Amino acid sequence: MGAINSLFHLIKLEKRLYWSVERLEELRHVKLAALLTYCYENIPYYREQFKTIAAQPGDFNDFEDLSRFPILEKETLRERSEEFLNPQTNRAKLIHYRSSGSTGIPLDLWYHPSERLRMGFTVTRELLFNGHKPWHSIVNVTEPRHSSPKNRWYHRLGLMKERFLSVYDNTELNLDRLAEIQPELLIGFPSVLLLIGEQLQNTGRLSWRPRLLFTLAEVLTQSYRENLKRCWGIEPIDMYGANEVGHIAFQCSQRNGYHINADSVHVEIIKDGKQVADGERGEVVVTNFDLRAMPIIRYRVGDVAEKIAGGCSCGCNFPIMGNVAGRSDGFIVGENGKIYSALEISLLLKAVKGIKQFRLIQKQFNQVMVEYRPAADNHNPENGISRILKDRLGESVDLKFSKVNEIPRESSGKIRTVISELKHPYGSD
Ligand SMILES: [Zn+2]
Repeated sequence: MGAINSLFHLIKLEKRLYWSVERLEELRHVKLAALLTYCYENIPYYREQFKTIAAQPGDFNDFEDLSRFPILEKETLRERSEEFLNPQTNRAKLIHYRSSGSTGIPLDLWYHPSERLRMGFTVTRELLFNGHKPWHSIVNVTEPRHSSPKNRWYHRLGLMKERFLSVYDNTELNLDRLAEIQPELLIGFPSVLLLIGEQLQNTGRLSWRPRLLFTLAEVLTQSYRENLKRCWGIEPIDMYGANEVGHIAFQCSQRNGYHINADSVHVEIIKDGKQVADGERGEVVVTNFDLRAMPIIRYRVGDVAEKIAGGCSCGCNFPIMGNVAGRSDGFIVGENGKIYSALEISLLLKAVKGIKQFRLIQKQFNQVMVEYRPAADNHNPENGISRILKDRLGESVDLKFSKVNEIPRESSGKIRTVISELKHPYGSD
């Protein structure tokens, strides 16, 4: 895409944020119809699904009708990835991306170069809407496979210049680099930005602060939010996305849930195969309207979020979804069946002094392993943690403690604070 086209496209995308609900719905319907027709005509996997449910693209008049389509599971996308590609497509012209896969088994994804570019524009729109200026510098602390420095026309003009640091690099080293670059905008995983922020506070050697702090990839708990604000002096703005479907939603200055990028994705929040009511939690299922190299219809992303009603006063008319509470397999279940997400566990443990970091793993019902990093070597927070967890999860819960030097990162580079090895509570089976 040339310079003029790119600029035109970005301006077009930004204007949509202020469109009326009716105008947005009209675009979404046109896009949904085009996606279904394309998949019916070209994609072997979806042809088969249309056949199974005895339907044709013209049978889908509204988004409610989409629920006739079976939910696409990660395993299906992984095992049958070839069937999601148009057999007529020249594979050499596509971009291949191998996702690390949350379960450790990689997922092969394919994109047209223009799709990657448009995904990038969606992120740029989120940043600009939240006050970023194109001439300000960006540092993104990420998993190295996501580092993709490009030399596009606007980079050559000094616009949207993004530098990448690795989440695996030593915190001190990352801080040195940041001090040198002094970016106006900092993007990264909450856990990593907090480590760097704490180092920054401890050394007190920097006189700069970024103007904006964006987080992504991990659950932004209340504790992360408060501690990031304490270290960096600004409150983070969270973004939500997945490699398979692009950026799904973003926070605005109101931080009242997340605005769904409704011009490019359709989001359903589902429990037991049905849409949940407002105020309830369910699994996030996403359809992307724009992907054609590897189209994605009703994909179970693997996260649990809340469905909320109402709009936002920030000026953007894109619909709102509630906080992402955690991965579907990231919940602790108490003895009375009550479910606690990473958000809630973090809020509970905030009351215990002296924990720097923690991770809870529910091995089986009534058995939870607690890994923690104490704030000081001579401090033992186990009694405090035990009191709070037993109060909520039940007196009979068996807690096994383990003091660790570091909470390990997943193959995706993320840190998960709550992991469950039980059958997860939001699934359809
Ligand atoms: Zn808003």
